[in-house]
Amino acid sequence: MHTVRNYIGGEFVEGDGPLLDVYNPGDGGVISRVPMSGAGAVDEAVKAARAAFPGWAATPLKERVQVFFRYRALLEANIEELSRLIVEEHGKVYEEAKAEVLKAIELTEFACSLPQITAGEIMEVSRGVECRVDRYPLGVVASIVPFNFPSMVPHWSIPNAIALGNCMVLKPSEMVPLSAGRIAELLAEAGLPAGVFNVVNGGREVVEALCDHPAIEAISFVGSTRVAQAVYRRGSANLKRVLALGGAKNHIILMPDADPEMASSNIAASMAGCTGQRCMAASVLLAVSHTDAILRRMVEHARGAVAGETLGPVISREARERIERYITEAEEAGAKVLLDGRGTVVPGREGGFYVGATVIDHVTPEMKIAREEVFGPVLAIIRAPDVDGALEIENRSPYGNAASVFTESGGVARYVAERASAGMVGVNVGVPVPREPFGFGGWNDSRFGVGDLTGRSSIEFWTRSKKTTTKWNREAGTNWMS
Ligand code: NAD
Repeated sequence: MHTVRNYIGGEFVEGDGPLLDVYNPGDGGVISRVPMSGAGAVDEAVKAARAAFPGWAATPLKERVQVFFRYRALLEANIEELSRLIVEEHGKVYEEAKAEVLKAIELTEFACSLPQITAGEIMEVSRGVECRVDRYPLGVVASIVPFNFPSMVPHWSIPNAIALGNCMVLKPSEMVPLSAGRIAELLAEAGLPAGVFNVVNGGREVVEALCDHPAIEAISFVGSTRVAQAVYRRGSANLKRVLALGGAKNHIILMPDADPEMASSNIAASMAGCTGQRCMAASVLLAVSHTDAILRRMVEHARGAVAGETLGPVISREARERIERYITEAEEAGAKVLLDGRGTVVPGREGGFYVGATVIDHVTPEMKIAREEVFGPVLAIIRAPDVDGALEIENRSPYGNAASVFTESGGVARYVAERASAGMVGVNVGVPVPREPFGFGGWNDSRFGVGDLTGRSSIEFWTRSKKTTTKWNREAGTNWMS
């Protein structure tokens, strides 16, 4: 067992705060300890990033992305070890962990393509006068990430922000701090100069120091809505550019004409996949009219998620208690538990934080489980008389990350896609993640700030544009804008 260290200026260094235990959620054992650093470590990291910035910013984009081509190859070469690290610190089952690293690779590929899509604009704006637009990096930027994807979510920001010429301080989740250290090592192996990428471990104190540090130009945040709002407010008050993605409560509308197998298997995979700890996971199923046969089939698919084999644990003992409390409260309020994951124990791994897949029928929109983010493998079914009734419930949610519809009717699909109050919509897709080059980002309380974090939108977020207007020909004359 080794203690996690910060990574500053190309060196692993001791953190400057007390140590917190890191658990393997699969068996409840302590696997490491993470320093809960303070403002001093943040300042050291920012200093290292500032020192690296002039050289990195002056490196042409086509050269900067060469690091990411090499880094991509390293991710691929080390995929098994990287996946096992995620299994260990986060608890995902191996296939899910590997899919996460594959997604990190896809995100890196987008950064490799940046020279092909960021060539500037140029035009003769008036006779003999041209205007050109160039993109410049911002400087030192910060990325604050949650526990649920220790590798993928950091890759939402690292490759694009750095390839575009910025230097970064990453703040991993204190619950899963191990992957970030390997990311730092592999970036260095790929040839990233010291100081361009830094990692400061910790919690609230580090986040607040990042929001307050005068030399940080921009912050991307991914996590719960409560903290996203706090980071957005504090960072913006300090005049930084902030994009903060928050929590989610995703609704799926199930129409009676849906393909039974496609709908039931996809919905079960959406709610139970990654143990429901995805901001894109199905949380509420709005079952319209006569859908009982599909629902029965869906419960059987969900039952097929075997804890400890195809279903990983949740992140902590507290998370398990919270999720089980939601189920019990719904039951006490009159809902019917069709599949009960409470009290799940995996033989030989009795210390693990397991909650089995859970499906609860006859939930009403007022119940807590229908309104709040549960973040576990739990699906609440609300019966709706028609599609407008279902949409009304979806629209009422303060969140707006994802929404899906399962139907065989193109017209109904279009109707729902247009009216759902969510930034990412699925038609017969349970986890409607817009893959590269499309950007990831929700609406309402699921996102604060402008634009999406990934895809083309990230270019806007991680750079500033300079518009240069030039005239060389004397005969072009003079006018009021000369
Ligand atoms: P979290 O908000 O508790 O933590 C996120 C980050 O903020 C962590 O690095 C944590 O150390 C830090 N933090 C925690 N409390 C803080 C505080 N009071 N002040 C300042 N910083 C604080 O989120 P989590 O539990 O790690 O992750 C799960 C949440 O993330 C869920 O709500 C999920 O929906 C959300 N999420 C959203 C997206 C998205 O794209 N919208 C993606 C992944 C996860």
